[in-house]
Amino acid sequence: MDTKAFKRSLQHSENYHRKGFGHQAEVATQLKSEYQSKLIEQIRNNNYSLTRGDVTIDLAQAFGFCWGVERAVAMAYETRKHFPTERIWITNEIIHNPSVNQRMREMEVGFIPVDGGEKDFSVVISGDVVILPAFGASVQEMQLLNDKNCKIVDTTCPWVSKVWNTVEKHKKGDYTSIIHGKYNHEETVATSSFAGKYLIVRNLEQAEYVADYILNGGNGDEFMVKFAKACSVGFDPDRDLERVGIANQTTMLKGETEQIGKLLEHTMMKKYGPLELNQHFQSFNTICDATQERQDAMLSLVQQQLDLMVVIGGFNSSNTTHLQEIAVERGISSYHIDTVERIKSGNSIEHRQLNGELEITENWLPTGKIVVGITSGASTPDKVVEDVIEKIFALKSTAAVV
Ligand code: SF4
Repeated sequence: MDTKAFKRSLQHSENYHRKGFGHQAEVATQLKSEYQSKLIEQIRNNNYSLTRGDVTIDLAQAFGFCWGVERAVAMAYETRKHFPTERIWITNEIIHNPSVNQRMREMEVGFIPVDGGEKDFSVVISGDVVILPAFGASVQEMQLLNDKNCKIVDTTCPWVSKVWNTVEKHKKGDYTSIIHGKYNHEETVATSSFAGKYLIVRNLEQAEYVADYILNGGNGDEFMVKFAKACSVGFDPDRDLERVGIANQTTMLKGETEQIGKLLEHTMMKKYGPLELNQHFQSFNTICDATQERQDAMLSLVQQQLDLMVVIGGFNSSNTTHLQEIAVERGISSYHIDTVERIKSGNSIEHRQLNGELEITENWLPTGKIVVGITSGASTPDKVVEDVIEKIFALKSTAAVV
């Protein structure tokens, strides 16, 4: 499919909306009351720190809702207002946050059912309204919805669209897109749908394997087993790694994306020499500012004297997991939770580990004075962060009384 031509024609269709519907002011008030927090405002104004009783909370200097997420949620609210009686669907979670997704359900926005890992679009009929989430949707999904004559509300973050434009450029120049991301993350699924030839690398270790293959060759069968789910149809490592371009899932660890870019640049330079480099390697900066700011703020926060960290965000949120990784790498006791309900009375907490498993830790709040670092992922409303902080204050004040 000529994905570029399809996108262009879709954008000219009267069924396609990507700029809201003129209800911004109304929606802004509603969002403020549902998702913002006076306590968080107070902590921000107090140099990101607040002490109550034995507890000092140190907040990261950038955390929570990014503008891309705020924009997507606002557009979803506007969509409901603009189409009060139509059936509205969303192709995926609007963002990776359980409370926001729950609000969507309350507003009677339906989620496309998933059956055996496949989305079932048969529920969608002509005239329905379908929202595409902040991390986008694959070009095949867009085409299907367009063919069904749906009204499409596209909330894809412009930063994600920028990555799509990058892989389009790779395709035009016959470069294979090396995408730093998770092959099954919705954003990367969408990005790869716009790419020509592509290979998705999860981390630096996988990129090193690819770089070694480029320089020294290797076992093609082993390569294909390793990347079976993470490459384009018909991919051949002996043919398709001669010209490569870098792209990324916008929420990956910034430092790792940069390292992977440098590694492949050096690899191509070594193999083809500096004069030929541009013929074999392309790179554009597609790391989103919000991800960068949150990771930088986390790196500063973990330099402080903290007794523990709480990282708040959806369990399938990639950017939140990366914030947690930063704390774990520094050896800090850090708990990734998605809602305040994970904090149980009786000093125990249910939290997600980096391997995805849930664990319950008892006595997680130490006795006496403590300093707790707090951050949250780009999909987490301040209100959720407030609930967590209030719970910690309450638990510690009860412990002090006991
Ligand atoms: S994290 Fe970045 S790319 Fe993702 S929605 Fe937010 S601003 Fe957009």
